[in-house]
Amino acid sequence: MDNAPPPPWHSLDPDAVLAHLRTQAHGLHQAEAVARLQQHGPNRLQDAPPTPWWRRVLRQLANLLIVVLLVAAAVTLALGHVIDGAVILAVVALNIGIGLVQEGKAARALAAIRALLTPHAQVWRDGRLIDIDATHVVPGDVVQVNAGDRLPADLRWLRTHELEVDESALTGESVPVPKQREPVAAHAELGDRASMGYAGTLATRGQGVGVVVATGMQTEMGRIGRLLESVGETTTPLVRQMAQMGRWITLAVLAAAVVLFGVGWGLRALPALDTFMAAVGLAVAAIPEGLPAILSVTLAIGVQRMAQRRAIVRRLPAVETLGCVTVIGSDKTGTLTRNEMTVQAVVLAGGVVQVQGSGYAPQGALVRDDQVLQPAELWREAPTLLALAEGAALCNDAELVPSETGDWRLSGDPTEGALLTLAMKAGLEPHTLREEQPRCAVLPFDSQRRWMATGHPLGERVRVWVKGAPEAVLALCRQALDADGHPTPLDADTWLAHAETQATQGRRVLAIATAVWPARRTLTPEALAEHGLTLVGQVGLIDPPRPEAQTAVAQCRAAGIRVIMITGDHATTARAIAAQLGLSERPTVLTGQAIEAMDDSALQQAVREVDVFARAAPHHKLRLVRALQGQGHVVAMTGDGVNDAPALKAADVGVAMGRHGTEAAKQAAAVVLTDDNFATIAHAVEEGRTVYDNLRKVITFLLPINGGESVSLLVAVLFGLALPIAPVQILWVNMVSSIALAMVLAFEPTEPDVMRRPPRSPSEPMLTPFVLWRVGLVSVLFAAGIFGTYGWALHAGHPAPWAQTLAVNTLVAMEIFYLFSVRYLKAASFTWAGARGTPRVLAAVAAACGLQALFTYAPFMHTWFGSADLPLPWLAISAAVGLAVLLVLELEKAVLRRWRP
Ligand code: ATP
Repeated sequence: MDNAPPPPWHSLDPDAVLAHLRTQAHGLHQAEAVARLQQHGPNRLQDAPPTPWWRRVLRQLANLLIVVLLVAAAVTLALGHVIDGAVILAVVALNIGIGLVQEGKAARALAAIRALLTPHAQVWRDGRLIDIDATHVVPGDVVQVNAGDRLPADLRWLRTHELEVDESALTGESVPVPKQREPVAAHAELGDRASMGYAGTLATRGQGVGVVVATGMQTEMGRIGRLLESVGETTTPLVRQMAQMGRWITLAVLAAAVVLFGVGWGLRALPALDTFMAAVGLAVAAIPEGLPAILSVTLAIGVQRMAQRRAIVRRLPAVETLGCVTVIGSDKTGTLTRNEMTVQAVVLAGGVVQVQGSGYAPQGALVRDDQVLQPAELWREAPTLLALAEGAALCNDAELVPSETGDWRLSGDPTEGALLTLAMKAGLEPHTLREEQPRCAVLPFDSQRRWMATGHPLGERVRVWVKGAPEAVLALCRQALDADGHPTPLDADTWLAHAETQATQGRRVLAIATAVWPARRTLTPEALAEHGLTLVGQVGLIDPPRPEAQTAVAQCRAAGIRVIMITGDHATTARAIAAQLGLSERPTVLTGQAIEAMDDSALQQAVREVDVFARAAPHHKLRLVRALQGQGHVVAMTGDGVNDAPALKAADVGVAMGRHGTEAAKQAAAVVLTDDNFATIAHAVEEGRTVYDNLRKVITFLLPINGGESVSLLVAVLFGLALPIAPVQILWVNMVSSIALAMVLAFEPTEPDVMRRPPRSPSEPMLTPFVLWRVGLVSVLFAAGIFGTYGWALHAGHPAPWAQTLAVNTLVAMEIFYLFSVRYLKAASFTWAGARGTPRVLAAVAAACGLQALFTYAPFMHTWFGSADLPLPWLAISAAVGLAVLLVLELEKAVLRRWRP
């Protein structure tokens, strides 16, 4: 059967599809699902085949430096200098090898991090809605899809409620299409099959339940062989800018080398080979060959560190931008608060009932006027409370399941979980209740209208339950139940005042209302408004702030970053929570309604002061992002819902919630938080600043090495002296010792003051005047060290290979000491922590010393690199020069600190 073409699912009746797939509308049994998983394999698309090795090597060869070196090797060999040619070739091979390893390492690190974001799916198994890894979905599974979900497999819809799906990933059509249960014509094209949903497309609105007809490579997406996730950028603007700079340097240096050769050989009639080698030497000395690779590794390390701190970077440039963030716009629920809701009070016409207990466990008494209400007596003592509890359980999509450990596991929305707990505390059994009063209609919760409604058959008629934000629900109500449970005309102002009282205590307030109407009436917002509802009561829920968010807010403020809260919650609730979090001394609040009334320039003014945006709808976020950006801010914005996607895209750094966020939000975001926690954003900012520091340290470390070498060579050629360091020796230093040392900087830990400085401006160039000054100063110091020791050795009558070997060792010694200096760009390095370094620093120093010992004392290195055995005490000279460089730089730092504290 597997090879037969699949039936035209879209034109079949849902029941026929279910029969064909040997499944039922309430899903498969777990055992059957396991068997089918064996048979059909995991629900995933095959990865693209890896790039063959030769193509990766070719990619490495497409590098100007490598080409220069290959030409140099060819010319050197042609001139009969076999050893020099071979050494250059060996260095080329080494460089390609390092490039391949680093490229692979960076790519693997990013791929591994993306793999952390595995999608989930909600399926019906054994009559229960459960959350599973999307790779475990099998044909015949019945899947539930909500707005924001990515479809896990190809589905034939069984039920849809206002469902719309964005199929652009498959059909290129960017307008979301409505979906339906009814079959469509057999010849309908893919884009017209309204009865079908396809793997990888995104539900943008409503809700749907469908049966899986194909998984993995059998899906439409699998058949056209398109990958869901195109690989994102593997570079950032900064790295591109540096690569560009590298290319310009290379071209300029090549031109200089040609001129050098022309002048030396043509004008001054120097020997061709020597002049050529000097030109090659200049080329390799001045080109920062290791820089791009180390910058990529630094970024990859930063991304890995962020992942360890639970922030997954989906777009690499965000690593840089995070360090520039000046405002973080954060959702309240679940990000700044724990999203563990507990009902604390029920407000009824007959008074307030206090609800005891915490968490989702149904333990806790209901207390009115200091009297405990007995669940068994509620029908007599507090009928309205019982009615409210019933509505709370029925107008509800969450499930609470007791676990073996005694706590209750929630599947669904925490607000709704808390309502289930309330119902259980009132003595109801939600599961039984839902079986007795099944749902015949639903209007799912929508953050714009802020309420949800369900219908339940009641004899010939239908009972409707509505729950949602008080002002939204009250607008639909005409009556309210009085203390005895009888409908009386509604006094909306009193109820709004009750809601306000609850909100002042930082509680989220929901109103619950009901109606009974004829069975033939369709459940729509208009029908509800027309018919009118009866208010039953209100509940006040607490969602405490996360303690770590409090600390993180304080950290951000110290780091010059404003934190603003954007929430769908009530203004008073939001203000109370903002004050507890310490967003500002006296948090100011603006509501969504006020935002509506403002034009863009008024909003730009408002965002300068307002800390809390309450009753805000997702589309307000986009305007806020734009207004903040208009004020010159670099904005990080969090989001979880499908409607948050535009704001996440528009923000400088869109941050999506990994746990409770929709797939739509994650796709739009640059960073995904695996713990949905605000504190993680602060950590990511800290890492972002660290990465930038480290990139700058790498550059500040490597450029003066090239600078020092080039100055030495130029001076030598200008004054007609022999080269203090031979070209192959320069290659050795640049590609072996320097890389071993510079690699350490990619791993540098965060400097202590990182979160006490103001944010960096995004327009600040990497090569600031300070960096340029430092590069210039160190280049001169290095050139002086190289020339000084070389000249001293020659002057003392030692042979040239000795002098050159001493100069090379001195250069590497200066690099080692400079490494200790550059680890703190501005702070003093002459401290215990600075001198001790990190294990990595010490390992790199040991490696560099070992390599230099090899260079100096191994006979084969003498042949290859023209080095010579040096008397041991001479190495002390190198070390002393290195130390002197460190001392000069410490002095420079001290002067600069005093000048510009
Ligand atoms: P934040 O924006 O801080 O994350 P939020 O996203 O939870 O807050 P919404 O989910 O938009 O805010 O909720 C807005 C209002 O809608 C709430 O204050 C509450 O009154 C109401 N509400 C929230 N969840 C539900 C629900 N499941 N059913 C009915 N009404 C709800």
